Amino acid sequence: MGSSPIIGFSIHLGTVAPTDTGSIPPWVSTGHAIPVLVEPKTSGEPYWSGWALAGDSRATAVASHDGVTVLLAGELYHRAELGSVVGETADGLSDAELLLACWLRYGPSGLRLCNGRFAAVVAENDSVVVATDHAGTIPLYLRTRPDGVDVATEAKVLAEGAGDSFPAPGTEPAPGLTGVRRVQAGTAVTLVPGSTVAEAARTWRPPHHRLIVSPDEAVNRVADVLDKAVRTRLGGPHDPVTAVLSGGIDSSSVVALASGGGRPVRTISLGTDIGDEFAAARVVAEHLGTRHHEFRCSSEELVRQLPWAVAAAEIVDAEVLEYLLPLVVLYRMVPNEGTRIVTGYGADIPLGGMHRTTERLHSLDEVIAFDMGTFDGLNELSPVLGSMAGHWTTHPFWDRDVLDLLTALEPGLKRRDGRDKWVLREAMRELLPTATVTRPKLGIHEGSGTSSAWSQLLRRVGVAESDLASVKTAMAAVFHRRTVREQEPPGEVSFDDVLDEVMSEQNLAVTR
Ligand code: ATP
Ligand code: MG
Repeated sequence: MGSSPIIGFSIHLGTVAPTDTGSIPPWVSTGHAIPVLVEPKTSGEPYWSGWALAGDSRATAVASHDGVTVLLAGELYHRAELGSVVGETADGLSDAELLLACWLRYGPSGLRLCNGRFAAVVAENDSVVVATDHAGTIPLYLRTRPDGVDVATEAKVLAEGAGDSFPAPGTEPAPGLTGVRRVQAGTAVTLVPGSTVAEAARTWRPPHHRLIVSPDEAVNRVADVLDKAVRTRLGGPHDPVTAVLSGGIDSSSVVALASGGGRPVRTISLGTDIGDEFAAARVVAEHLGTRHHEFRCSSEELVRQLPWAVAAAEIVDAEVLEYLLPLVVLYRMVPNEGTRIVTGYGADIPLGGMHRTTERLHSLDEVIAFDMGTFDGLNELSPVLGSMAGHWTTHPFWDRDVLDLLTALEPGLKRRDGRDKWVLREAMRELLPTATVTRPKLGIHEGSGTSSAWSQLLRRVGVAESDLASVKTAMAAVFHRRTVREQEPPGEVSFDDVLDEVMSEQNLAVTR
């Protein structure tokens, strides 16, 4: 793992020579632009042109050897293990070079070995493979056209292109855009630029089976696998790391493991006038001795930043946006660009944490299976949420090994002794204060008051209770149209204008 990964790219792969690499549209994530131009060595291979964005200008985007070219955004989390099977020491290799070595030994199957947070393009002969990590945590989009294919980690970059993508296997239409398709999570799609030849291979699926292990063993395994996932995400021993801390068990676990070994950790918490979890976060920060900062933002100011959340996540689902908004706002308040941020996001999905009142184990397991089967396309872990403010984010709970284990544990280890997320709480018992270990779950949108903030603002202008959901949905669609399809900078999209537009469309009167 380089300390400053490539955070995204936009590439045209074509059958004709490019005139230049193009320029980076100003509305995408902040970062250093690295032009990418690869000329074919033998006839038939595609030309590459475009750019990659990195946290710093020394990052390596492209690696080439023996007629194979790799472009990698993101990072790999088990570099030593990968090195051991490709017969090289991973030290000194960039993640792109490590993936290349893996490809040279295993071919496309090499992607099935990779545990990381990445989006990759690999070209060999006349074909191109576009691939997501196991969970699609870096969204990857494409637009095919008669003379090639455009591939980008942000859909907005492809919004205006000509060409209507054919429905390649392993891809789905991107919401609100015509002709742009998203590569599914855990999928590698092989394309031949300039043709409609395509096939897809799965590289990961959420496990459907459940493991029976003793409670003690489950607790030890969760502690070990999570510890490793956190450690591999921290960079070098002296690299500073920041954690977004709510004081809930998920983020507190990550902070506890990150602080192990005396590493200095900065923790940050967000609160609004409607709600905060400052007291709970402070208990954890004091216990672990982190450098702790509280950020407060008015609930109105929070909601007015919705265009940023939509521009980053590139989704239209109002409920998911309510989860993501507080993080987007917090990331934008963190001063130093280039900060590596770890979160506790996503633990609830494999552990069933959102279903805290579901008592029957069968029902709990069904909702876990459902949630693990439907996360794709929600873009909850998109790096753009942080990279819009110049930061790199990473989520230990969605490490492939952590996710495999947590999903597969039998539900009686998740709900036990009247507690949700039992196995995680037990695994962290020694590291955290008892108050934290036993603290009931509070959703991110509840703690910071996002859902109620958006509703409150709508009620204030006269939206009836029964119209709240439809107005939110319609507003999300307009934010998406303007920031993604029309590529307006989110700072120039006014919440009030969008609200007025939606209210008049729905024949509702605004009372300001
Ligand atoms: P629990 O699920 O037990 O409440 P949690 O609060 O850590 O644990 P979520 O509520 O699911 O987890 O929130 C997701 C993640 O978002 C957290 O793990 C944390 O990293 C981050 N987060 C949530 N709320 C805040 C907040 N107010 N300030 C800073 N970070 C937050
Ligand atoms: Mg919480």
